Order: sequence, then structure tokens, then C-alpha cells
Amino acid sequence: MWIDTHCHLDATEFDADRDAVLARGRAAGVAMLVLPAVEAANFEAVRTLAHAHGLAYALGIHPMYVHRAADDDLDRLDAALAALRGDPRLVAVGEIGLDHFVPGLDRERQERFYVAQLKLARRHGLPVILHVRRSADGLLKQLRRIEVPGGIAHAFNGSVQQAQAFIGLGLRLGFGGAATFERALQIRELARTLPLQSIVVETDAPDIPPHWLYRTAAQRAAGQASRNEPAELPRIGAVLAGLRGMAVDAFAEATCANARAALPRLVA
Ligand code: ZN
Repeated sequence: MWIDTHCHLDATEFDADRDAVLARGRAAGVAMLVLPAVEAANFEAVRTLAHAHGLAYALGIHPMYVHRAADDDLDRLDAALAALRGDPRLVAVGEIGLDHFVPGLDRERQERFYVAQLKLARRHGLPVILHVRRSADGLLKQLRRIEVPGGIAHAFNGSVQQAQAFIGLGLRLGFGGAATFERALQIRELARTLPLQSIVVETDAPDIPPHWLYRTAAQRAAGQASRNEPAELPRIGAVLAGLRGMAVDAFAEATCANARAALPRLVA
């Protein structure tokens, strides 16, 4: 079996066929999904979906959404984390972090929301699910200062040194569709060489399609879909297992154990 540690199942891309997407994932052996929120407006959507389908969720404000978040959304998050303290399906604070790749984002506001949410994770005793894009050092700087109970740096794409720093702080690293591209040399090298205990797998569906679903911008404009979904995870996992020279079943089992260690409430 597999655990998809990062799936935006509430995204509009799944509105037409969400149940079928879930059924295909289950049939493919994906037994559990973690649904991270991206803004206060979808806290209820991920919670409801997780409860309706026996899944897990996280609550947080994504760095690409802080520009449209209200300042008191941090209070809403705090209140939701307190109110849902006894909910075993709430497994983390996320998706939070910093994005230094997309141009035009307000870095100061991102930083303020990131720091505030790390403090909420610490106060509520929850791990974090981190968005890392050209921002590993900025994320690490605050993680060293504000100690949280571990979590996952999702869609990791940094250097070996940065990977080791996250691992040293008790985080796991999420690998997915990006590692299926032969030209993704650095990600593949990390997936091949990092300690097995530090690796979890994810789709980030509907985003980060594996190479077999990749469509160019022109193809997408012509209506060809490149939507990723949980049912792709076993094939993505097989690529990762292959990079490590491991049997697929053993890799699946190890990454499930790692996901449960990173997000302890998954055990319940
Ligand atoms: Zn995400």
C-alpha cells in the first residue's frame, strides 16, 4: 500500500469526478491521502472531504495565498486548531512556507505568516507540511528558531546540504512526479542517496504530473489534460524505488512507515 502525503483533492480540477479519482487511487493501492488546506476558505472543504472518505487533512495558509488572506485568518487558524484538537484526522499545520520562485509575491508578508504558523504548530503540538520553492534557507532559518514536532518538506528540490539540514531538524522530504523526469538530476540524486527513513512520497495532485502525463503549454492550450491524481503514486513510487535499487513493495512499506512517523496521527 501507499500513502499520498500531499494531495489537493478539494481542487476544482476534481469537481467533475472526485469520487472516481479516489476509487482509482484505492484500486491502485493508495490507502491514505493527506489533504493540505491552502487558505482559510478551504479549511472546511478539506476537513469535510477527509471525514467523508476516511482520509487525513492539514490546516494552514499557503505562501501563494497570503496576499489574499486577511490578517485575522491567523486567528481563524488558531481557533480551528483549538476546536479540532481532538480530531484524529487533523494531522498537521499546512500547507505553509515560503515561495521565492513566483515573481511578485510579498516576501515580508509570506515570512510573517510562515513564522506565525510555525508558532501555532508548536503551540498545538502538530507537525508542519512545508512548501519549499527557492526558499529552503529561509525556511530552515525559522525552523532552527521555532521548534516544531517535525513534518514534511513537500516537493523537495534543494541541495544535499539543505536536505540534510531539514533531516537534522527532524523533517522528512516529499518526493513525487518531478523525480520521474530523467533531466531532474538533482532531485533524482537526492531520492537515490538520502537515508530511506527521510523519504515520503506524494503526488501534489492535481499538480506536478509525472513525465508520462506531462503536456507542453501548447498541448494544454489545445485541451490535452495533464492532471495528476493519486492513482499515479504507485508508478511514481516504482520509479523512486528503481532509483534506489529497491523492490517496489519494500519501498512502499518503508515510505508508509516514514509518513506515519512524520505525521503520528496517521497511525490512529
Ligand atoms: Zn501543495
